[in-house]
Amino acid sequence: MKKIIIAIDGYSSCGKSTLAKQLAKKLNYIFVDSGAMYRAITLYFLRNHIDWNKPNEVKKSLPEIHLDFEYIEEGNQSHILLNGENVDALIRDMLVSENVSAVSTIKEVRDFAVAQQQQMGKKKGIVMDGRDIGTTVFPTAALKVFVTADIAVRVGRRYKEMVEKGIIASIEEVQNNLELRDYIDSNREVSPLRKAEDAVVLDNSNLTREEQLQIVLDWATKKIDG
Ligand code: C5P
Repeated sequence: MKKIIIAIDGYSSCGKSTLAKQLAKKLNYIFVDSGAMYRAITLYFLRNHIDWNKPNEVKKSLPEIHLDFEYIEEGNQSHILLNGENVDALIRDMLVSENVSAVSTIKEVRDFAVAQQQQMGKKKGIVMDGRDIGTTVFPTAALKVFVTADIAVRVGRRYKEMVEKGIIASIEEVQNNLELRDYIDSNREVSPLRKAEDAVVLDNSNLTREEQLQIVLDWATKKIDG
């Protein structure tokens, strides 16, 4: 069967990763959470006291960062490895969330991440979620979805997720973080968050996970069969 690339972009906490993961499972495709890569780079900078405002420090440290995704068939799980260490939980920390968008504005950081993302898509059969997947990483992706949802819905979802993971933050902090990230992501110079012209919009404010999966699965099937 024909394999395609599916790009899922949109604002923070719209449920992009959940959708991408479910879609990949249904289609038997690889799922890549590109945001996890930017988060892992941010974690590395924070841990090693790299001042990302100094281009020399960034340039020197990027070759020391090795990112990998470890796929575990059972439960369709994937883990992100930073220099061999599973940092799944650590990259969701509030300190990382507060700094990741600033780190993501740096051209060298983006070039570093995008090159690896494009490599992962070489064989197609991939669902990748992020901010610039349909515009920069895979501009010729067969299906591009731009996900949106009301801010109140997004804050509620993110807060619930954090509580479940035992991460302590107030609703206000969560909302401020989402709004700030969306602002920085949409206004940066390199690959800002934009809907690709040929992307289809999915507003999932009032959709269940199952409903949104069905909608996108229909779009994907048409592209695969067409
Ligand atoms: O997807 P997630 O919210 O985990 O991404 C964290 C941050 O990484 C985003 O707010 C954005 O600043 C950055 N990012 C990006 N480009 C991507 C994916 C994420 O700039 N493709």
